[in-house]
Amino acid sequence: MAKLKLDNVTKRYDDQGDVVTAVDDMNLDIDHGEFICFVGPSGCGKSTTMETIAGLTIPTEGTIHIGDRDVTNLPPKDRGIAMVFQNIALFPHMDVYDNISFGLRLRDYPTDEIDRRVEHAADIVQLEGMLGRMPEEMSGGQRQRVAIARAIVREPDVFLMDEPLANLDAKLKVHMRTELQRLHKELDTTIIYVTHDQEEAMTLSDRIAVLNSGSLQQIAPPLTCYNEPDNLFVAGFIGSPSMNFVEGTVEGDSIVTKNFSLDYDPSTADGIAAGDEVTIGIRPEDIYPSALRDEVSDPSELIDARTDILEPMGDEIFAYMLLGEGETSMSQEQATNDQLLMSIDPDSDIDEDEQLQVVIDRSKVHLFDTATGEAITHSLEAAWNSEGVTESEAESDD
Ligand code: ADP
Repeated sequence: MAKLKLDNVTKRYDDQGDVVTAVDDMNLDIDHGEFICFVGPSGCGKSTTMETIAGLTIPTEGTIHIGDRDVTNLPPKDRGIAMVFQNIALFPHMDVYDNISFGLRLRDYPTDEIDRRVEHAADIVQLEGMLGRMPEEMSGGQRQRVAIARAIVREPDVFLMDEPLANLDAKLKVHMRTELQRLHKELDTTIIYVTHDQEEAMTLSDRIAVLNSGSLQQIAPPLTCYNEPDNLFVAGFIGSPSMNFVEGTVEGDSIVTKNFSLDYDPSTADGIAAGDEVTIGIRPEDIYPSALRDEVSDPSELIDARTDILEPMGDEIFAYMLLGEGETSMSQEQATNDQLLMSIDPDSDIDEDEQLQVVIDRSKVHLFDTATGEAITHSLEAAWNSEGVTESEAESDD
């Protein structure tokens, strides 16, 4: 079974005398059958990493293995891979059958083998009955399915897909996402998928590889990246809207920020000491108006806030809160120390410009080392139970 392994892969470009490190000492171990998404902002090295796997670029340093073979210096055609790109380059003068079978015909496969593979691939991507159509007679989604079928007939060990859905409209994208998941199940093959869209990565992947500035930040299942991000970059990149970040300092058993303090259970945050500069990370869904958390609201935990903008989304309301004397309106991009974005129940009785108190679920608070960005802990206390009290509070009530 074909595993894919990158060992210390580095790719440097000479950009008019300046050295650009597009991929920086990348190590990856991908099992047969895994669906892996490379995700990260534009320019973080996703495509270059993919190109080194495809053989379109030779790494400056490091090795790439597919199965037991060292493919580092092999041409693309000898690697057992097939590629699907964002730009669906179909031959306009060829019908679907000829487009799908082009590569096989070039390699002189026997006609009955070509027929078998084309029919099988057309069946998988649901293009039966359309093999005689010309590309101009098809929708964007159908054309992308032809491109995928063209990859399937090669029966590759590894599929490489570089933003294959980027040019499709939002509704079709969601539909094709489900199709790709079905395809992955049916083909039982390894898929490496490049996207800048963290939502696409969350829904498709077995594991997400988060990249920034050419280096791998974390590779883990989507929910692990969401719930236990290794550093500030992953925490801010995964999740929409983004996690709130507030800078603070450790004082005794509290994290003190400009507008509020949070107590922490020292057993959950090993290794921090008084005076340490830390950054608190809180997802919008882990902040509540205090009225909803009455039973746990220790007055010291209540944070004074004023609603700035409300955005009703249907299934939730995004409430942009200003803390302290915060006067400025916040953007959805990133909260500063005076602002918090809270996601609340759509039935909540809340108005713009309302003064209220909010409470943060401390069991969901992340703590990062401000200087290095590394995660320290993903909880400041034991989780709240179904009655809305912590386990230690439940015990002390008994
Ligand atoms: P992504 O796919 O994440 O947007 P890329 O892998 O395309 O990022 O690019 C990573 C970095 O390498 C960028 O800074 C880009 O400008 C640079 N780069 C990519 N290809 C070349 C090249 N052929 N010559 C010089 N620099 C390049």
